[in-house]
Amino acid sequence: MSQIHLLYQLQQIDSEFQDKRQRLAEVLHAQKETEELLAARKRAETAVAQLQTWQGQRQNLTLELDSINSKAKRSEQRLYSGNVKNPKELSDLQHEIASLGRRRGALEDEILEAMIMIEDAETEKAEADEQLAAITAHWEKSQAHLKKEQNELALRLHTLNEQRKQLAPRIDATQVAQYEQLRQKKHGLAVAGLKQNMCMGCRLTVSANKMKEAQEGKLVYCGGCGRILYPI
Ligand SMILES: [Zn+2]
Repeated sequence: MSQIHLLYQLQQIDSEFQDKRQRLAEVLHAQKETEELLAARKRAETAVAQLQTWQGQRQNLTLELDSINSKAKRSEQRLYSGNVKNPKELSDLQHEIASLGRRRGALEDEILEAMIMIEDAETEKAEADEQLAAITAHWEKSQAHLKKEQNELALRLHTLNEQRKQLAPRIDATQVAQYEQLRQKKHGLAVAGLKQNMCMGCRLTVSANKMKEAQEGKLVYCGGCGRILYPI
């Protein structure tokens, strides 16, 4: 097999490697979470936080109510025990019981309000969870395709790499070095196909003389773009 043919094979491997690697980067990028998913998760997290806030609030209010109830109970027991004779003390006890009663009423209102807020928060949480689940399911489905493509690309890149390792030593080292230099200068394409009389690298017409040489398997460079020509 001619050296130029091997160089052309090397170019095909390198070109495909470049394309696949580019696609792999795109596939990896596309696997990031979408704005929609992030927003749905944020909504669900906020709903949980709201619910916990109101549940905590209700708990604190209930504890305070319990404490007031015990206090009122003790004062009432003392008031009706018959042990308190001092009118001032009796009057103070009555005031205290009345004051505790007012505080109890206010607390009960606040607890009721907290319970309504808990109900609202539970509804919001249920809706947010449902929305998040639907968006996550949709996202995961799209991810499955990307994951599959990612694996296929990785496998193909590995194969191309192996093929290159076997091919490169069969080509004259000086020519490989020249090829690499040309590839860097020519956007990755060092060997261009020569189709009829047209260079596929720059689409310019190649002289009859060069075409003849290329067909004889000689190393010929395109006069337009400077790439190595390979008849296809
Ligand atoms: Zn050209």
